[in-house]
Amino acid sequence: MDSIKEILNNSKSIVITTHKSPDGDAIGSSLALYHFLKKNNKEVTVIVPDAFPDFLNWMEGTTSIIHYDTQTEQAEQLIKKADLIFSLDYNALGRIGDLSTPIEKSNAVKIVIDHHQDPKDFADHYIVDTECCSTAQLIYEFIENLGESDKLDKSIGECIYCGIMTDTGSFRYPSTTAKTHQIIGHLIDLGTNGAKIHQEVYDTYSEHRLRLLGYALTEKMKVFPEYNAAYISLSQEELKRFLFKKGDSEGLVNYPLSINGIKFTVLITEKEDNISLSFRSKDDFHVNKIANEHFNGGGHIYAAGGMLETSLEEAIKRVEDVIKNLK
Ligand code: 5GP
Ligand code: MN
Repeated sequence: MDSIKEILNNSKSIVITTHKSPDGDAIGSSLALYHFLKKNNKEVTVIVPDAFPDFLNWMEGTTSIIHYDTQTEQAEQLIKKADLIFSLDYNALGRIGDLSTPIEKSNAVKIVIDHHQDPKDFADHYIVDTECCSTAQLIYEFIENLGESDKLDKSIGECIYCGIMTDTGSFRYPSTTAKTHQIIGHLIDLGTNGAKIHQEVYDTYSEHRLRLLGYALTEKMKVFPEYNAAYISLSQEELKRFLFKKGDSEGLVNYPLSINGIKFTVLITEKEDNISLSFRSKDDFHVNKIANEHFNGGGHIYAAGGMLETSLEEAIKRVEDVIKNLK
């Protein structure tokens, strides 16, 4: 922490980056660190590779986030000028898409704060805890370890709360520890309204999103009780039928896990130019290895993702092959 403190003291212009298709932890941890650094009178910008879902828009600071895909030039200037770059909630440059090019070129000091397995060598300093439930919790601990907990306030608290809540399935995954609950308790003491944040994130569905969920579970979920596995697949045509918007399938992959005996689930989604895969598991079943070995991806033990450049039919076939080889 001493060398990090010195780096922070010596840096004026700071850029915070996070992964593609940012989720609650990506945006929550980035904005929490953003508010903290602002309070320390730093010039700081959050740059994301692409858009994030509307249900994260309530967080303070979202309007000042720069999107690399649509504000490329502005983002590149900020990165060029930066003397310090944070990489939050990702462990490899491949996770930030084209944003990796200017980041790689930059001579700024690079600090990774992350909770994914197996971080790649692209930064100068790593604050990595793969046991930690979320990067947002790591940001809380980072501020604590800097001895600056007095700077924590309601806006930082709301962002950290959101990151922890979304990455722990609302404080229920095994990564949720006593420390997590103690942090949440402290954030509530600071004025964070947990019930309001839960509503903002989980009770703001469009009617189409809820109907897509119903359709996916009724028509598109295939269950393999003998392999303790299930998958859901969605084509572009189906997504369009339900007026799909970014974030509308968030959480869908988790539902089959609530079937008694199911330990492994996959969501296969046909994107415009590839197939994205989302994996979840529980108990003794680990998905990061499957994502890495068969689907060009990776992630955590119980939550991972991947990508295929095949047809939807071929992707479904590969998932079925993996499932049928489970025993
Ligand atoms: P999700 O299913 O929510 O998109 O992703 C779950 C987790 O899997 C994320 O926290 C992320 O760590 C990881 N993940 C998702 N997609 C990829 C990918 O393409 N590559 C790697 N290495 N990890 C991924
Ligand atoms: Mn995370």
